[in-house]
Amino acid sequence: MNIKLILGTLCITALTVFGNVSKAVNVEEAQTKTLRMVTEATFPPYEYRENGRIIGIDPDVVREIARRNGYALVIEDMPFNSIIAAVQSGKADIAASGITITEDRKKIVNFSDPYITAGQSIIISKNSTIKSAADLKGKRIGVQSGTTGDIYVAENIGEPERFDNAALVCAAISSGRLDAGVVDTAPAKEFVKRSEDIKMLPEPLTSEEYAFAINKNRTDLLEMINTTLVEMKDEGLIKHIVAKHEKNVTKDTEEIKETGFWADFKDDFHTNFVDDDRYLYLLNGFVKTIEISAGAVVLGIMIGFLVAVIRSAADQTGKLKIANLICKFYLTVIRGTPVVVQLLIIYFVIFGSVDINKVVIAIIAFGLNSGAYVAEIIRSGIMSIDKGQLEAGRSLGLSYPKTMILIILPQAFKNVLPALGNEFIVLLKETSISGYIALEDLTKGGDIIRGQTYNAFVPLMAVAIIYLTVVIFLSKLLTLLEKRLKRNE
Ligand code: GLN
Repeated sequence: MNIKLILGTLCITALTVFGNVSKAVNVEEAQTKTLRMVTEATFPPYEYRENGRIIGIDPDVVREIARRNGYALVIEDMPFNSIIAAVQSGKADIAASGITITEDRKKIVNFSDPYITAGQSIIISKNSTIKSAADLKGKRIGVQSGTTGDIYVAENIGEPERFDNAALVCAAISSGRLDAGVVDTAPAKEFVKRSEDIKMLPEPLTSEEYAFAINKNRTDLLEMINTTLVEMKDEGLIKHIVAKHEKNVTKDTEEIKETGFWADFKDDFHTNFVDDDRYLYLLNGFVKTIEISAGAVVLGIMIGFLVAVIRSAADQTGKLKIANLICKFYLTVIRGTPVVVQLLIIYFVIFGSVDINKVVIAIIAFGLNSGAYVAEIIRSGIMSIDKGQLEAGRSLGLSYPKTMILIILPQAFKNVLPALGNEFIVLLKETSISGYIALEDLTKGGDIIRGQTYNAFVPLMAVAIIYLTVVIFLSKLLTLLEKRLKRNE
């Protein structure tokens, strides 16, 4: 295999990936009037999943508002503590996620008229001695990060333990890792009904009002939503939607079960993968993970080669001073900051108000990140080639770039292949933070299942096994490639 072949293959893969991605962007643009809603979908009866779809009181109310005003609705699932930021940055038009109106949030977003009254409740284990809020001092209390429950506990009781969603708080109480949890009352009721180990104290801690959050600049939307909300309230539709979902989530799922290791395993397997076609979260997530990783590898290699060549050329010839400076700056910034922070900056700040496919954003973020490491790996490869080779090339009458491309880079590439392989394995696993920008990759797929079945072991194991299998396969492929290159020597 020669370097041209490798570069050719890379370019074709890059074009295919970006071609598909830009097609996806165009399809989204083609639907003109879309209302983009963000939510955190492990909050029954307000938002939850059934057969892969996000449903619940909020999606139903917002879908009806959209329908009455001629919009198509797109729903995105993201961590609760990113939801307000998504609306503020223009990533979403409306946040509907059982959001309580608070003075602090009002400074950042506009709120619609309230549509529900709610509150925070205390959840404890069935055999707990906690009787009221007064007993919570000094206890291990869990909350969902960024919620009014979180704020209440931090201000009135003490530092809480913060979880990604309320379902995880309840799971931690049932397994004895927490003494109590503070969760919104209606979801708390649902969680208590589903678990044999937890109960709720009757007295709510707070009284709150839920409303939809809208970007400060979108007063047109605010007006539209408020007008339609009044209509829907007058028609009794909101009450009807609430009743429908309260009934839906509590439908009886109790069955008489066998026990024993195999029966338990079969049962867990069924609940986590077969029921509601939950395996699809893993399958679709896997496809996303591969798309993101493949795109990022291609982008990373392109950036890496470019930066390595510029840096080496600057070192060897003393030219390209400014380009070299830019490359050094890029390497310092990328290697000096965590990839999750880079991903969030690219998503919320750089592409804040641009509507592009999130897979593209992830590819750009991970590609830019990987490029820095690839660059240094390739540069070390270039440095490992004897100086005589460069001189030999030049004395044969080849220009510096030609010597680089024809003589140095192919040898350098071969020398650094193991290190490059390592970088791609790291990259594949790093994409597991894509859930931060509401991408449903493999890890997030497992999280979604976990949020629905309250089983930590089975979905996490499944996710780990899938990553491991891909990594083993990748390593085998790299060994083959290494052997091939050796034979060509
Ligand atoms: N009502 C709470 C809040 O606004 C929690 C909402 C939620 O977890 N979805 O902070």
